[in-house]
Amino acid sequence: MRKPDWLRAKLPSGKGYGDVRKLVDDKGLHTVCQSAQCPNMGECWSRGTATVMILGNVCTRSCNFCAIQTGRPTEYDIGEPARVAEAVATMNLKHCVITSVTRDELKDGGASVWAATIRAIRHRCPSTAIEVLTPDFRGKTEQLDIVLDAEPDIFNHNVETVERLQKPVRVQARYERSLKILAHAAKRGFVAKSGLMLGLGEEKEEVQQAMRDLREIDVKILTLGQYLQPTSKHLPVERWVTPEEFADFKTYGESIGFTKVESGPLVRSSYHADEQSSHFTGV
Ligand code: SF4
Ligand code: SF4
Repeated sequence: MRKPDWLRAKLPSGKGYGDVRKLVDDKGLHTVCQSAQCPNMGECWSRGTATVMILGNVCTRSCNFCAIQTGRPTEYDIGEPARVAEAVATMNLKHCVITSVTRDELKDGGASVWAATIRAIRHRCPSTAIEVLTPDFRGKTEQLDIVLDAEPDIFNHNVETVERLQKPVRVQARYERSLKILAHAAKRGFVAKSGLMLGLGEEKEEVQQAMRDLREIDVKILTLGQYLQPTSKHLPVERWVTPEEFADFKTYGESIGFTKVESGPLVRSSYHADEQSSHFTGV
């Protein structure tokens, strides 16, 4: 399917882009921007911002929409939290977003590395708002608590799609389980955030139902963006959702009480994340 004009992203350019690339290489870090083939790399990296992906770049799961490599991870690097903190300091970020692959094979699901990373950033950059975009920890709230005890500013976990499409889209995940961990974070007083990709075959009413489900457990920030097929082996795009439809979902989301709805074809969880969360972080 030929991409519509509204999905044309900015090409990489300028010193900012080169600086981020060099920093990521020098610190031996992974970014979800590269691993997930994000269309916004040109824009975000040119602005001097990137989303670091911790716990390696091989995921134990194999979601049918995701470009990240699947397999048996070998990376477990206790020096990573300090290097991530250095990178956040060098990029001089007021708001950083950290994510990870899913590490179902680790006893704690990688929660202790998550916590060490949050604490290292907090120590190195005390005024930087820290947003974490985590896996579901297989619904184990005791693992999630290890992450939350390190006190991130924003807790983000994506449900990715509507309830009916969970299995074809993210086979090892469960809609209820994702809601459970978001609810747990919200109940503990954290600002909870989630997101969905559109264009996978979902109906309007199903998207609105998912939005209501998220509001019911007090998720406050929502992102909606167009799904893009990374390779021919991944799920096809069912349709291009128009900018007007995205605008209608934003209006609907605000009407049911989300504090912030970022909704548009190129929106991703970490796209302009500082602006998405500024109401809560003051950044
Ligand atoms: Fe990609 Fe996350 Fe699914 Fe792993 S769990 S394949 S990183 S979306
Ligand atoms: Fe990276 Fe997020 Fe920007 Fe995409 S939207 S390039 S993942 S920071």
